[in-house]
Amino acid sequence: MKILVVGHGGREHAIVRRLSLDSPAPEIHAAPGNPGIAELATVHDIAVTDHQGIIALARDLAIDLVVIGPEAPLVNGLADDLTAAGITVFGPSQAAAQLEGSKDFAKSVMHRAGVPTSRSVTVTKLQDVEAALDAMNPSGRVPYVVKDDGLAAGKGVVVSIFKEDALDHAEAALSAPGGRVVIEEFLDGPELSVFCISDGTTVRALAPAQDFKRAFNFDQGPNTGGMGAYSPLPWIETESVLDEVVRTVAQPTVDAMREDGTPFVGILYCGLSRTKQGLRVIEFNARFGDPETQVVLERLASPFAPLLLAAAKGELDQAEPLRWHDHAAVTVVLASEGYPKSARKGDVIGGIEKAEEFGAHIIHAGTARNSRGELVSDGGRVLSVVAVGESLEDARSRAQMAISHITLPGSHFRTDIAQRAAAGEVE
Ligand code: ATP
Repeated sequence: MKILVVGHGGREHAIVRRLSLDSPAPEIHAAPGNPGIAELATVHDIAVTDHQGIIALARDLAIDLVVIGPEAPLVNGLADDLTAAGITVFGPSQAAAQLEGSKDFAKSVMHRAGVPTSRSVTVTKLQDVEAALDAMNPSGRVPYVVKDDGLAAGKGVVVSIFKEDALDHAEAALSAPGGRVVIEEFLDGPELSVFCISDGTTVRALAPAQDFKRAFNFDQGPNTGGMGAYSPLPWIETESVLDEVVRTVAQPTVDAMREDGTPFVGILYCGLSRTKQGLRVIEFNARFGDPETQVVLERLASPFAPLLLAAAKGELDQAEPLRWHDHAAVTVVLASEGYPKSARKGDVIGGIEKAEEFGAHIIHAGTARNSRGELVSDGGRVLSVVAVGESLEDARSRAQMAISHITLPGSHFRTDIAQRAAAGEVE
């Protein structure tokens, strides 16, 4: 089988790595890929925005399946263009990707499908913001939640106890042409991510993970794209939670999308909060999450390429049942100086071989080769270190040891990823 993976981040490296471990392994291509992906696949210098270039490449190589990693090309309709060209694709259409592309759309589907989520109101006029904030948070004693309606690469959400912050964020978002914000009730509970794979009809849940969104230890600092993740979650009853997520969240959503004539094919990422009242959806994404993919796929024991192909072809019910390794997996992200506000680029990265001696492996995200062929930083989240172990504590200490040997001037990483979960506390 020949597979083309579209994207150049850590998520795509993790997807390529897991595909390469299938037996037999597929022939793997990537566009544009990154230096880590280039060690496992043939990379092609075609941007994710170049739909015609990707179609031509898939045709030239007689690709059997295109896997689209990031959200932007999905929301821009790359899957539609590939499908129209007769190419099999894993990833939702532009219309179905609206589950991620518009928070207002996602809320309306959830309401129609009876999916448990926070109460919310969508606002387009500045003068309506304050009343909406008060309606969603009458006591003012819990944080206010304001979200840009559209994609904002993790920067569109403000959760703050200060009404001023919420008002400022709403004002900034509404000043953009066509600006809309979703104002929500605060959900109080530990968060988990469940990726559900769907062929438009059938749904299966992958192993759950938890990610760490804040930049610094003990959940301090600004929100980021994600600073680390782990799987499994010792603080949940995995099987019953996955059952509940499929039954109450993913299946009703997939059914509603199909009934609307916009079937969802791909990964429905369910970001959830386990509140005292039960599981509630915080957000949907229309693709694998980063960095959770690094740990979830590290635990997948059943074949990966046939699973993606079956979903893309509408034959998920015929795919081999998912099997999982018992081991735990932890990933820790190395970020460049200034991240998430800015990202210093072009610094030489060292110590990778030393890090790998601890049995960990490196997933590249924002890396590049300079003119001397050296590996250098090229983004905010530079790379992540992934380690497995018999226990979460085992995997955690291995990942921490490994990442401490990587050198990159000014870089930072968290030292508390999975710490509380490994100690038997609810995260
Ligand atoms: P963007 O749209 O900017 O890419 P995102 O899709 O990552 O951001 P969300 O996942 O909806 O945005 O929110 C980011 C984080 O904010 C969540 O992981 C969660 O920690 C917090 N959050 C969002 N909504 C709520 C809520 N209703 N209650 C409590 N916390 C929330």
